[in-house]
Parts: sequence; structure tokens; C-alpha cells
Amino acid sequence: TVGCVIFDRGMLAAASSTGGSFLKMPGRVGDTPVPGGGIFASGNCAVVCTGLGEAFIETLTAKYVDSLVRDGIHPREAAERAMKRLHRLKKGAVGGLVAVDSKMRYGAAYNCRRFPVAVFENGVVAGDYKPVKIKE
Ligand code: ASP
Repeated sequence: TVGCVIFDRGMLAAASSTGGSFLKMPGRVGDTPVPGGGIFASGNCAVVCTGLGEAFIETLTAKYVDSLVRDGIHPREAAERAMKRLHRLKKGAVGGLVAVDSKMRYGAAYNCRRFPVAVFENGVVAGDYKPVKIKE
């Protein structure tokens, strides 16, 4: 999955694209196009997820991040909490997520082997961002 969250001119948006999971059943729909599962955008925050789609859908992880941010939690902390919750609810579920809020604060967390995140400001790479690695 390649996902992108955007804050631009006061608006938030999320976009994502995936090939799905390896050896998937014909007709399987993963979390990538499911609002609240693997993608979400509201007036508070935009979120995209990658990883074991079934786990993200069943735990509504993208929506959970939005709820935390709505309660005033920084997207970095929200991303971390959401990945810990995912681990608690769905043992062995791998993945990660990125989020940005309406104050242009962003964050990402993951528990898989690689999770590169690039940050752009005004179309230019704004430096490295190191997502939080969840160890459990
Ligand atoms: N989340 C995607 C799916 O389950 C797979 C991925 O992120 O690579 O369809």
C-alpha cells in the first residue's frame, strides 16, 4: 500500500492505493478503500493505514485515530496508541499508519519491518520523519 495524507488550504484529505494482500481470495476487499478501516478523513484529521487489512477493518483503526485526534491528542501519539491497540486486539497483525491533523501536526507508527514516511511542505521534501516503531 502507498498512502498519502494531506493538509492544504484548511482542508484534509487521504488517498491510498494497494495491490491487496499476497495470495488473496478472488473478490477480497481489503481495508484500503474502507472508510474507518484503512482510510479516513474528517475536519479533524486524515489517516491512511497499511498492513493486514482484515485487522484494520475489524478494529476500525483509521477511525480510532480520528477519535483520538478529535479529543486533542497529537497525531503522533494517536498513531502510536492505535498501533498498540491493534496489537492488543489482533495479535500478530502487522502494519502501520500515518496521520495529519488540522493544525498541520503529523505522526506515524508501525510494527513491521520497514515503514518509510516522507514529509512534503509546499511540494518540497521537508526532511526526514522517523515514524514510531511499536515493539510489542
Ligand atoms: N492493507 C492492504 C490489504 O489488506 C495490504 C497492504 O497494505 O499491503 O489489502
